[in-house]
Amino acid sequence: MSHYDVLVEGAGPAGATAAYYLAKQGKKVALVDRAKFPREKACGGGLCVHIEEFDHIISNWDDFLESKCFRGIVYGPDFTPVDYVSEKPFFYNIRRLKFDNTLVEYAVAEGATLIEGIAVKSFEVKTDKVITKLRNGDELTSDVIIGAGGSFDMVSRRIREIENMPMKWKDEDIATALYFEVEVGREYMDRVYGKERVSMAHIKYQNLDGYGWSFSKDTVLNVGIGCPRSIIKKLKKDNPKWDERQYLLDYVDTLKDQGWFPKDIEVNRKMIAGSNIPVGMGMKCTVGDRMLVIGDAGGFVSPLSGEGLYYALDSGRIAAESLDALFKEGAFDKQSMMLYHNAWSGKWGDDLEWLKVGWHLLMVMPNSLIKYAALDEETKEFFTHMFVGSMPASKIKNKVLALIAKGALKHDFLSHVIGKHEQVPSISN
Ligand SMILES: Cc1cc2nc3c(=O)[nH]c(=O)nc-3n(C[C@H](O)[C@H](O)[C@H](O)COP(=O)(O)OP(=O)(O)OC[C@H]3O[C@@H](n4cnc5c(N)ncnc54)[C@H](O)[C@@H]3O)c2cc1C
Repeated sequence: MSHYDVLVEGAGPAGATAAYYLAKQGKKVALVDRAKFPREKACGGGLCVHIEEFDHIISNWDDFLESKCFRGIVYGPDFTPVDYVSEKPFFYNIRRLKFDNTLVEYAVAEGATLIEGIAVKSFEVKTDKVITKLRNGDELTSDVIIGAGGSFDMVSRRIREIENMPMKWKDEDIATALYFEVEVGREYMDRVYGKERVSMAHIKYQNLDGYGWSFSKDTVLNVGIGCPRSIIKKLKKDNPKWDERQYLLDYVDTLKDQGWFPKDIEVNRKMIAGSNIPVGMGMKCTVGDRMLVIGDAGGFVSPLSGEGLYYALDSGRIAAESLDALFKEGAFDKQSMMLYHNAWSGKWGDDLEWLKVGWHLLMVMPNSLIKYAALDEETKEFFTHMFVGSMPASKIKNKVLALIAKGALKHDFLSHVIGKHEQVPSISN
């Protein structure tokens, strides 16, 4: 039986990043994924600017970067746009097939052992080690197991069980997101989306909570919609014929009408894929004896935008740094593993909570907020940066209060917010 310092279950961006940093420290790491790489993953492929924190990413842009975005257009449900142009890129575009594979290659280059095409079946935590069984019957032991298997991860389920937490996210804390990618050619992209590679979102499209997006890669458009599972369930209950694929196809028609999608490209249902995004602000406990969870497994996703790639990479790095300290002490009990939990929650736990506040505000009064955000360049900048996740909680808090006060004087914003609730038509398709 092979023994590793750390076994990482799942080689997505979170797992591959943890493996990269652990291997760099000289740890013996097994990186196990049920898929063979390169593999596809449902995603918009947008990276917020915090990704610049990672040296091995920014010094190797050429390995996977598709485009840098200098312009964002966010439409309200009544199609009022917030059109923000920046001198510096504020959003980066990648495609997951290449990006995820490259991150795995970086981990392997540092010395991690990749075991691909084989799922982790189960694991058992003993006092002195973790025993992990793979689907092919192999057994591996390790000092610690990291759960990085995405939103329904087995290590996170074990922690939920031990901590008496609900066994899964509430329906309102899971977004269902669908997307497709289509080649449109560089001439179309340069002409329509420009060298500044516009990134676009339609908030509350057809008045459903959530948003649709169109992200411009080098020559490929990535188009999708995301909506809380609770809303989708309600729609299906009220109208069994309602379906989310048709919702995305309707959105494509709107993009065509607005001139943001080639009229001659037919999108069909087979091109569409989807997955779940946990938007519940992170699990209340993310560690146990000899185990911890990172990325979607821990619920680390912006509740406002559904953006989870930065949090996946950063939680992987924080886990590796925390474990480095714990290996020096040789202590892996839950109490010691809290070092990791406290580190991520101290860094961006508040951000996730404030982004949830932003989400609720935007869903309750989308047209008012978008109109307000479109008023001047400063507000456009703030709104766009908050939406794409480049704003720390302290700034969001201070700025929201300052802007409301300023807006109350200049535009009677406060009376609108407090006095008149926006009339949003009831859900329909
Ligand atoms: C449609 C859609 C659009 C999105 N758009 C964006 C966006 O534009 N920007 C952004 O930042 N985020 C976006 N996200 C969120 C983003 O995709 C996730 O936050 C991110 O993939 C999380 O990375 P991860 O490594 O935690 O999990 P994943 O990427 O899900 O990787 C988990 C890995 O674990 C493996 N695995 C699972 N179970 C096992 C097992 N038992 N044994 C072995 N391996 C296992 C899987 O094969 C997979 O490779 C989007 C999500 C969706 C669904």
